[in-house]
Amino acid sequence: MTIQNISVIGAGTMGNGIAHVFAQAGFKVVLVDLHQAQLDKAIQTIGKNLDRQINKGIIKEEDKVITLSNLCTDTSISSGVSIAHLVIEAATENTALKTSIFKEIDVAAPKEAILASNTSSISITQIAAATQRPEQVIGMHFMNPVPVMKLVEIINGFSTQKTVTNTIVELSIKLGKTPCVVNDYPGFIANKILMPMINEAIYSLYEGIASVESIDTIMKLGMAHPMGPLQLADFIGLDVCLSILHVLYTGYGNTKYAPCPLLTNMVTAGKLGVKSGEGFYNYAGGSKELVVSNVFNK
Ligand code: NAD
Repeated sequence: MTIQNISVIGAGTMGNGIAHVFAQAGFKVVLVDLHQAQLDKAIQTIGKNLDRQINKGIIKEEDKVITLSNLCTDTSISSGVSIAHLVIEAATENTALKTSIFKEIDVAAPKEAILASNTSSISITQIAAATQRPEQVIGMHFMNPVPVMKLVEIINGFSTQKTVTNTIVELSIKLGKTPCVVNDYPGFIANKILMPMINEAIYSLYEGIASVESIDTIMKLGMAHPMGPLQLADFIGLDVCLSILHVLYTGYGNTKYAPCPLLTNMVTAGKLGVKSGEGFYNYAGGSKELVVSNVFNK
């Protein structure tokens, strides 16, 4: 099967980025979300991101026109996936929601279509079990922001066929990305390694070993990380970090993944990082300005 028609379910942060890169690479893309307003916002965001690429000299004005002409929108999953060769689900991170979306896609998409999920932490095997074609279900974990980040973590579910994995690897290369194949276990690889590092940084602060600034500066300058782990946690969202740590903790049954009580407290207090305006840093002046949150600045 030649893959040409892509349907992307969910037009939020990740969905619009995924639609952008496929349309830019010449694929026909249908972007699906619950409401037309969300779809209009996503198309506007894609337009702005294409303008940014033009200003940086990465693409030309005519590339923007072609990219936008490859995109259309739909508020119904059934009609949105009816001629898809590949469906990529990038809806809200919720197991019940994703399994119900996959049931609907499974009924409406052509029998030979590959079904992928962009989930950060939900088991691909569990999502695949909601369909009649588990061997054609795979994880395609893009990184944020999708048009910029090179990695696609490809996750083989328990039943994923080798030919399906190979097709998705080749497709990712066509998008200009670097695919890395992993097996379906909690946190896959990216989050299985990243989240314990973030948790350890939070523990170091909680135990009074070092300040927010020292922890982040040590990891930035000492390890050449572009951003310290506490700032990165603020960007990802502390609620998202906590939820992934719970997935690792329960999935492996190992206390090394137990979330730091400080992280739990901050999420309970509504300090979620950039999206709530405060986490380890205070974002009243914008997300580029690093001002340590008052709670830690004593
Ligand atoms: P988001 O909240 O920005 O967008 C989710 C979108 O899904 C919303 O537009 C919502 O309206 C839509 N949606 C919800 N239910 C739907 C349904 N039944 N049908 C169609 N659309 C529906 O979320 P996001 O940050 O883009 O995350 C999407 C997925 O990508 C999640 O699984 C998340 O774990 C994963 N992910 C996120 C990031 C990130 O940095 N944000 C990185 C990698 C992976």
